[in-house]
Amino acid sequence: MEIKLAKHYGFCYGVERAIDIAEQHPNSATFGPLIHNKDEIARLKQDFNVGLVENFEEAKEYDTIIIRTHGITKDAYKKLKADGKKIINATCPFVTKPQQIVSQMSKEDYTIVIFGDKNHPEIKGVASFGEEGKVFTVLSEEELIGLPLGPKVATVAQTTRKPHEFKKIVAALSVRVAELRVFNTICNATFENQDATRELASECDITIVVGGKNSSNNKQLYSIAKSICPDSYHIENESEVKKEWFENKECCGVSAGASTPDWIIQKVVKRIKELVG
Ligand code: SF4
Repeated sequence: MEIKLAKHYGFCYGVERAIDIAEQHPNSATFGPLIHNKDEIARLKQDFNVGLVENFEEAKEYDTIIIRTHGITKDAYKKLKADGKKIINATCPFVTKPQQIVSQMSKEDYTIVIFGDKNHPEIKGVASFGEEGKVFTVLSEEELIGLPLGPKVATVAQTTRKPHEFKKIVAALSVRVAELRVFNTICNATFENQDATRELASECDITIVVGGKNSSNNKQLYSIAKSICPDSYHIENESEVKKEWFENKECCGVSAGASTPDWIIQKVVKRIKELVG
């Protein structure tokens, strides 16, 4: 059986950068998981003593706090500063960008419409840079109905959203408000992995997506793979690989989301080779 890796897979620029930053700051802690991968978080703890805190109480144990790729809210940042923490900002520059846009556009009196999931940490952070009551987060054009938008609107998107869906929001806004400023803040890294997974799934009779199960990135890759190649699996590491998956298979595709480190992918490939002999 042939084992084929996707043309694009694994770490994106922002994640690689955040891991480098964490490795350069041993004996610190990240505020929330640095990335959506618990094996990589365990490695940072073991090799660099970079811990993980989920709240301000837990943060008391550390002098240095690292801000994760998704960023945090403006208030959380202020609170950490007020608590005397040394803050190392590992927010991905592609997430900092919409934060800055929301801040600037709010100052210029624009109402902000964010296309994204209001419960996602990235969006909670981005929204916090706007003026309270003048920031709306939507996932569909239907959700725009009845919102008190005012005459001037600026819109940004969650980095992982699909461009054609953002276009629908932009189209709906453009006929509703007098002035619309559109900022395309979608990150291409996710799409490169998605396109490569699509291609891989069409070439193989089994596809394995490697990465944290709480990552929306990985979930999207898995759903793409499954829609093309019915024998697709989403695993976090090599311990989940099963021998029976490979019976009568000729090609196994392996892909991974932007938060999956290469060392986990290599272990999965090694395990598949052991199982198929
Ligand atoms: Fe940054 Fe894009 Fe990676 Fe998200 S997927 S961390 S926005 S580079």
